[in-house]
Amino acid sequence: MQNLPWMTTDVLSRLSANAGILLIRSLWEYCPEQMFIVRVEGPGNYVIEAMNPTQQTMFGDERSCIGKRIDQLFPSPLCQGVIANLARCVESASPIRYEERSSYLDRHGDYREGHWQTLLVPITDQGGQVTHLFGVSRELLPVASPFGTSRPDNPELERRVMERTAELVAANQKLAILATRDHLTETYNRRHLLELADIELRRAFRYNLSLCLMMLDIDHFKEINDTCGHQAGDRAIRILARTLMATVRECDLVGRYGGDEFLILMPETTPEGAREIAERVRRTLEQSGQITVSIGIASLEPDDRFIDDPIHRADTMLLQAKRNGRNRIECPA
Ligand code: GH3
Ligand code: MG
Repeated sequence: MQNLPWMTTDVLSRLSANAGILLIRSLWEYCPEQMFIVRVEGPGNYVIEAMNPTQQTMFGDERSCIGKRIDQLFPSPLCQGVIANLARCVESASPIRYEERSSYLDRHGDYREGHWQTLLVPITDQGGQVTHLFGVSRELLPVASPFGTSRPDNPELERRVMERTAELVAANQKLAILATRDHLTETYNRRHLLELADIELRRAFRYNLSLCLMMLDIDHFKEINDTCGHQAGDRAIRILARTLMATVRECDLVGRYGGDEFLILMPETTPEGAREIAERVRRTLEQSGQITVSIGIASLEPDDRFIDDPIHRADTMLLQAKRNGRNRIECPA
């Protein structure tokens, strides 16, 4: 991970397991680079287990390659070079980068030549044994194919394509932020938080993990709006969001549920743990002297079918906290 220049370890560590899975799935589906997973069956024996859509467009139908050994896809002796790199990654059990010129059997069943830059990352089991290799390959200098599909030798056109691609990538990133974040606080918006919550719920059931959530609402927020104005109200909501992000754990998911109400998802957390986190939030805000909040906590129960079920219980607990005097936490006995 430390070698990835485009994403700091800090950013990665802030992702929950499910956000990480979503990220990997998106990369796998949409990344313009070729990605593949090879199963390590034994010394020199590597089997293609999966290829992303980009790789499939090169090799043809996924089904025709999946389950094939490397030496069935690459002609000898070139496959020896490929296998040597795979073996190097297995032996070192750490990521390796290399460049190679090689041939491969394309979707039409013909051999093509190419110049590739590849990153191989080992995937280990719990005992530290390398079971698979994850690879990302990019073609550096496409060599003219027998079908005459080489790129035009036009630096100006290439430059404009690169520029346009960079613009599209930036626009896509903007769209992704707009689609998933609340415009005022930059925490998750309600729709995206519920999507993530649904994934967390299924993960919790599948792996028998505890999951808690907290519903939180500013006390007497209308008074801030009425006495100090709507902009001061907006500022208070932003301060609350920042405080929440700084106070909860990195793996917790914070989203604006609506108005002055926030929902926080706490994966792999027991009700006692959730209460501790909630108390830290409550106390921090109280000590700020600007606002107080009431908090309702709920944990996942075996009969829950949808994320709405624990959300409804957290809401009921929040109402209870309001009725019991505000600036307090309520959770089931
Ligand atoms: P309680 O302690 O019972 O929660 O009282 P409250 O006054 O906070 O009541 P409530 O939570 O129902 O108030 C929500 C108010 O938040 C109503 C609405 O006018 C205001 N509001 C909702 N969205 C925004 C926003 O984006 N900005 C501002 N400034 N106010 C908002
Ligand atoms: Mg309120």
